[in-house]
Amino acid sequence: MKLIVIGGGYAGYVAAIKAAMLGAEVTLIEKGNIGGNCINAGSISSKALLAPLEIMENVFTADKFGVKIEGDIKLDFNYMVSRKDSILKQLVSRIECILKTRGVKIIRGTAKLLSKKTVEVIMKDDRKKLLEADKIIIATGSVPVVPPMFPYDGKHVITSDEVLSLKKLPESLVVAGGGPIGCEIGQLLSKLGTDVKIIEKHDCLISSFEDEELANELQSVLKRDKVQLILGDSIKSVEVKDGKVYTNLESGKKLKSELMLLSVGRKAYIDGLRLEELGVAIERGKIVVNDKLETNIEGILAVGDVNNTISLANVALMEGIVAAENAFNKDKRMNYKAVPRCIFTLPEIAAVGVTEKQLKDKNIKYKVGRFNFAEQAKAEIVGKTQGFVKVIADKDDKIIGASIFGAHATDLLAELTLAVHLSLTCQEMGNVIYSHPTLSEAIMEALHDVNNGSVHSIK
Ligand SMILES: Cc1cc2nc3c(=O)[nH]c(=O)nc-3n(C[C@H](O)[C@H](O)[C@H](O)COP(=O)(O)OP(=O)(O)OC[C@H]3O[C@@H](n4cnc5c(N)ncnc54)[C@H](O)[C@@H]3O)c2cc1C
Repeated sequence: MKLIVIGGGYAGYVAAIKAAMLGAEVTLIEKGNIGGNCINAGSISSKALLAPLEIMENVFTADKFGVKIEGDIKLDFNYMVSRKDSILKQLVSRIECILKTRGVKIIRGTAKLLSKKTVEVIMKDDRKKLLEADKIIIATGSVPVVPPMFPYDGKHVITSDEVLSLKKLPESLVVAGGGPIGCEIGQLLSKLGTDVKIIEKHDCLISSFEDEELANELQSVLKRDKVQLILGDSIKSVEVKDGKVYTNLESGKKLKSELMLLSVGRKAYIDGLRLEELGVAIERGKIVVNDKLETNIEGILAVGDVNNTISLANVALMEGIVAAENAFNKDKRMNYKAVPRCIFTLPEIAAVGVTEKQLKDKNIKYKVGRFNFAEQAKAEIVGKTQGFVKVIADKDDKIIGASIFGAHATDLLAELTLAVHLSLTCQEMGNVIYSHPTLSEAIMEALHDVNNGSVHSIK
């Protein structure tokens, strides 16, 4: 089977490798860097810059553990950037090596569809190449949304594409949008010494989709880190003058900053692919797919941010695998009920499944269990007592949602994701023996709390 994958980001390169492992003759077309947004300007690059924050926090609290650190302790932004760049380089070359050893042919250029089995590639040197395939997987990803009212220039008014490759720290930054990207970058730059203000039109950060309690905790952490939050206010106009950004808010407030980061969402990237001409169904700018990642046109599949499912790297990876299998006429289906949602602030935030707010809005009965890290031995030992685990179960005791705020929340969420994925009950999960002493025991205690209460909670 001949397969063409358009786009070598997380969804595309995974689909290409998987299909090659299954025996397909695969050609992967990429117009930029292999690894796409995820590695080069998204999940990986942002986390590589955020990682030193935790080290710094541990250094600052070291004396509480009897570890004496003396002398000048500071974050070195230039070193952090070069470390991030070398991590990205290493990852990209490792992926290219895997693609090569699996026999995937990589073509550098921009692809468009001429028919449902023919793709034209404009190569870097402007030469054109025509390719034929039995199946095509579209994995062209997404780009930041830039509403027309913003004078985006990539220098003063920037998006995540540019902020992750800044070479010099700005003195001041206004972040438009209090979602995960705005909060992660806002906290990072504030800790590095930039004067950061986040503007969010809702009354609380990340509130439109996450548990209110998580949003409240996040707000207090960001305020502690000197990030100024302007909530329930919208941007009326923005002007760049003499190298400064002037922002007027609906409330009448006026802000002046060196930079503005636009983090108001992302949109699927389908420019120039000729999808409309081929009759590929598109809704709100995204390619419509079923749970097998098939479009309405036989033989064309779409994976990752470009389709109308959930735009996250973890989803992109699984969609790449499922689409590759379905290209071989298998019957693999995506299950979107257990998608982890993680925010890599310090402390971290992680959630899966439904939130209490969604259930309350729909008048659905549910049970909640909770455990605070402050009540736990391991958290006390490692000095990470801030935060909690919350588990939500339906009337039949099935785990349908969970949220964690605290150290290593994004790693701890894995077993609760499994529980939601497999529709396990709190009884079933609560009977499991956990390693001791570990932070993961907080999950067990929260599970016990759903029904009979946790033995380590003072009620
Ligand atoms: C700052 C930031 C932080 C993020 N953090 C997280 C996180 O912590 N966790 C998480 O799960 N998700 C995170 N995300 C989201 C995650 O990065 C995306 O969901 C993921 O990158 C989607 O992968 P993709 O393969 O669909 O698209 P992309 O990674 O965007 O890749 C698409 C590729 O297609 C190529 N392409 C486009 N058009 C063509 C064409 N016509 N011909 C050839 N090639 C083409 C592009 O050059 C690109 O390389 C973050 C995103 C951002 C911006």
